Amino acid sequence: MTQPSPAGSNRFEIQARASDSQARSGVLHLHRGDVRTPAFVPLGTKGTVKSLTPREVDQLGFEMILGNTFHLMIQPGADLVADFGGLGEFMRWPGPIITDSGGFQVFSMGHGTVADEVKGRSANGPGRQGRILGIDEEGVRFRSYVDGAEMFMGPETSMEVQAKLGSDIALVFDECTPFHVTREYTAKSTERTHRWLDRCLSWHKANGPEWQMVYGIVQGGVYEDMRRESTAAVAARNPDGIAIGGSLGENKEQMYEVVSWATDELDRVAPDSPRHLLGIGDVDDLIRGVELGIDTFDCAMPTRIGRHGTAVVADPGNRWRLDLTRATARDDSRLLAEGCGCPACSEGFTRAYMHHLIRAKEHTVMRLITLHNLYFIARLMDRLRDAVADNTLPAVAAALRSGANPWDA
Ligand SMILES: [Zn+2]
Repeated sequence: MTQPSPAGSNRFEIQARASDSQARSGVLHLHRGDVRTPAFVPLGTKGTVKSLTPREVDQLGFEMILGNTFHLMIQPGADLVADFGGLGEFMRWPGPIITDSGGFQVFSMGHGTVADEVKGRSANGPGRQGRILGIDEEGVRFRSYVDGAEMFMGPETSMEVQAKLGSDIALVFDECTPFHVTREYTAKSTERTHRWLDRCLSWHKANGPEWQMVYGIVQGGVYEDMRRESTAAVAARNPDGIAIGGSLGENKEQMYEVVSWATDELDRVAPDSPRHLLGIGDVDDLIRGVELGIDTFDCAMPTRIGRHGTAVVADPGNRWRLDLTRATARDDSRLLAEGCGCPACSEGFTRAYMHHLIRAKEHTVMRLITLHNLYFIARLMDRLRDAVADNTLPAVAAALRSGANPWDA
């Protein structure tokens, strides 16, 4: 057995702070191991980082993954996972795990398009089945998308499920307020999120594993006063860490501003608490997020676009994306990225070959692009982390923004 993890804020050790931004680097000392920060956390939504084995995820350099409370409670169920020793044992991932609260998924059913909105997709995308049955102070009743059974999730349920999953970091149950609702709705919803925070913390104090960290979640929509108030209200409850959630705006500029309201406030009231930014992971967003003092990020982007034939490459003009489904890749003899050490590029697989595999509907290509994308993001975070420690972040961030590969920046 390893040493018992330290309590309270000792679980996060800030080792360097940048002199010209809010960036910091450090180490999270978690139950199942350490996580160097700033870090990107790949999604293992249903108990797997899609198409990869845990060993592959580890070899890419990731130290923590994210499990999804909502999906795992529906299938296979938290009790079954607990019988197998928790999510880490069940899926054979030996390192730390963060679980989301399920709030985002539950409320996405009710709000219809909040998931699309937060992820920057069109609000008029494919229709979602509204399986929400009711929302009140207790929580949310909904229908399982697997068998149609009526289910309930409230603050205590979410914490109980996360305790059974045995994650190193649990997130409190919150209402993910969408962008299209009114200021008044945002205010009411944010206040309810704070009441639910209290219920989550008291449930955890009485029943949760001592070694499990609990992060509060800042809401407040795109309103500066509410974001700042929510940040102060969450910090005042003294959770083990603080996540920033909800709709962050219509575009990147607004998102950076909304995040900065929270991090400015946190620099004042909780400078030593670890901070997680929920659901954000584009290359430029990770660079900006680090500058704003975010410690950990999770996002479906690298794995999701990989499965759909798009590689992450150092091309700011195309939002760091290379669409391999396009005919331009048909006879392209280049690697995905020059000098890339990922399992795909280091084997010499060309863009033309990957394009062919996509056309031929061969599953191997999903794995190859996923491996490359996560490798790129892992090296990006390594580079940013080193730059914070060396106090060279402005130059490194500028090089990355102008299209340098992380291993050359
Ligand atoms: Zn590669």
